Amino acid sequence: MRLLFSLIACCCCAAVSANDKQIDPLISPSSRTLLPTQAGARMYGGAVGLSTTAPPSKTPAGKEAPAKDSKDSKEAKETKETKDAKEAPAAGPRKSAEAAGDPEAELSAKIAARLAAMRATQQARAAAATAHAKKAAATKAAAAAVPPPPKVYSNVWSYEGETGPANWARINPAWAKCGSGNRQSPIDIRDGMRVDLEQINFDYHPSSFNVTDSGKTVQVMVGRGNFLSVGNRMYELVQFHFHRPSEERINGKGYEMVVHLVHKDGEGRIAMLALLLERGRAQPAIQQVWNNLPLEKMETMAPAETLDPMDLLPARREYYTFMGSMTTPPCEENVLWLVMKEPVQASPAQMAFFSRLYPYNARPVQPGSGRIIKESN
Ligand SMILES: [Zn+2]
Repeated sequence: MRLLFSLIACCCCAAVSANDKQIDPLISPSSRTLLPTQAGARMYGGAVGLSTTAPPSKTPAGKEAPAKDSKDSKEAKETKETKDAKEAPAAGPRKSAEAAGDPEAELSAKIAARLAAMRATQQARAAAATAHAKKAAATKAAAAAVPPPPKVYSNVWSYEGETGPANWARINPAWAKCGSGNRQSPIDIRDGMRVDLEQINFDYHPSSFNVTDSGKTVQVMVGRGNFLSVGNRMYELVQFHFHRPSEERINGKGYEMVVHLVHKDGEGRIAMLALLLERGRAQPAIQQVWNNLPLEKMETMAPAETLDPMDLLPARREYYTFMGSMTTPPCEENVLWLVMKEPVQASPAQMAFFSRLYPYNARPVQPGSGRIIKESN
């Protein structure tokens, strides 16, 4: 009877233990479904196990003593095996093999294996996280080691603010002359050397033309065949445009506007004729330009009529001459300047028209840097 009670008690313990483990989240659903069978196996197999694993009693204490000893021994073994399995999950398969005939030991071994698998997963995740962090750090270091891309220089300039004349040379290396040149324009024309300057020969004709609002000024392209000759060179008129106020000064005096007529010779040398504008009567050629102003910037209007550049010139043809530059980026030098002494008149309405478009589009005066200025007697 004592053996029977022991078996029942042991089975109950196993059942309770199994029930406890059934709610253990570490046990997989498949393990749980096995539990009743395991419990049953223990109930019967355990008894078999007792008879098979318990050593034959050599004591005279009767049948019960070996059974109890065997049970105690088995429980001790189970406890040890469970402990071993938990402490040394890597040995799980060997323990499982050893405990093949012991369902509870098998269960413990499975738990241990499950724990080992979870630990392995956690370690793998930790390793992956470490590797990811290392890779990110390496990528960051590589990015820091790569030199920055070459600076993209701008072609944007204006007459004020960050893109204004004081910064033109820094906006683009090709515009370095705007800052470092020593023959820059415009200048304050003073202390000219009075000489018998040759007359400028103008060979201008009524010509086709078109008008563009460039975003910096109003520019007029003129048809071919309009020349001026000076210093044994012929320069062909290419275009003319306007600035407000005048870029040039005469002995410190500025004018309300100026017209720049750009000429080029066969070798690409530039001769710039400057006509200072003051308030007075209406100027017919300027009116023609205003009449044909496009409605939008960067658009060009090409009227059917012709324009005679001769209409722009003053009656008297005395002038100042010196070497200078273009007054807009890239500020190229070696430009022959011819500034007519007599201003050209334009009406207040014509001045106001331009000032609505461009109230200020003039580069400040540049250092004379000892250059020679000659003027007509
Ligand atoms: Zn100009």
